[in-house]
Amino acid sequence: MPDTDRRTFVTGAALTAGAVAVADVASAQGGGGAGAATRPAAAAYPKPPYPVQRQPWPGLASKMTPRPDHGETSYKGSGKLAGKKALITGGDSGIGRAAAIAYAREGADVAINYLPAEEPDAREVIALIRAEGRRAVAISGDLRDERFCRRLIEQAAAQLGGLDILVNNAARQQTRATLADISSQDFDDTMKTNVYAPFWLTRAALERMGAGAVIVNTSSEQAADPSKDIVDYAMTRAAVLNFTKGLAKQVASRGIRVNAVAPGPFWTPLQVSGGATPDKLRTFGSQSPIGRAGQPAEIAALYVAAADPSLSFSTGQIFGSTGGGGQPA
Ligand code: NAD
Ligand code: MG
Repeated sequence: MPDTDRRTFVTGAALTAGAVAVADVASAQGGGGAGAATRPAAAAYPKPPYPVQRQPWPGLASKMTPRPDHGETSYKGSGKLAGKKALITGGDSGIGRAAAIAYAREGADVAINYLPAEEPDAREVIALIRAEGRRAVAISGDLRDERFCRRLIEQAAAQLGGLDILVNNAARQQTRATLADISSQDFDDTMKTNVYAPFWLTRAALERMGAGAVIVNTSSEQAADPSKDIVDYAMTRAAVLNFTKGLAKQVASRGIRVNAVAPGPFWTPLQVSGGATPDKLRTFGSQSPIGRAGQPAEIAALYVAAADPSLSFSTGQIFGSTGGGGQPA
């Protein structure tokens, strides 16, 4: 496997280091231990103005100020995904990390995909999944490559012993003031990451999925209300929304469901590594009725719901978490 760099991080040292780092941060943000059921997390979440910061793409959650809360110390599972095998793209950070933590605590074995530069974030997630006693598989590689997408599905299924849930969550968002500023390479990278990869991954996954399997896509409030400076990105979130609804109809007779989650503004590396201008970052989320950016921990339960076998009549659905803003569909 020359270009996939598959690793499993089974050492106790790696597990301890990752768990401690995350717990420290969550605690500094007002988080409690695993038993802190009454912690009013939302009340303690940071509000604008946020510190302006910039990281080289794709960015690391571990280098953000403040660090995002992905539910490391707060998410409580109840066996909703017991025994399921899930692959989550972009599972190293942000919304994908929150989904990975939640899936593991709901009883799923979880594979994550990420870029090689995101290895430090991925290590923390792998440690957190293992801490739940679940199987954790780390497969780095670039989703803009069709052959890699096919290998990712094959390897995730082989390592997990099957594939019941595919979460298409990875995405590229780079702010550009005008169309003239979007090079053809930019456009291609955004389309490859955000539209082609979910298509390639889903097509390969469906070859091996049976009744009860679920595809969970990630759209955005941008699908229906695009910002003026991320036009190419917003197009892709609309495409994913449409893909979700059409494919849901196509595979319903096979007992396979297809849902999407549509976030509003969330505090993640995507925003500090070129996704938002400094001005937008400072006031990020202030336009939403809740008046702040969401934390990844606040959306994880929707990824669980989108895949939950007990919601067996829910397919082609768009689950929103926008802080009160508009819904894409
Ligand atoms: P994030 O940076 O934490 O996650 C995005 C991930 O995409 C990265 O971690 C990276 O692993 C992956 N990725 C990007 N290009 C890749 C490539 N070529 N190959 C492999 N992996 C690649 O940011 P996030 O905000 O958690 O983003 C997750 C999803 O949420 C995206 O689909 C995004 O469109 C969506 N979303 C985010 C927001 C927000 O405000 N943060 C709002 C609406 C929708
Ligand atoms: Mg990342």
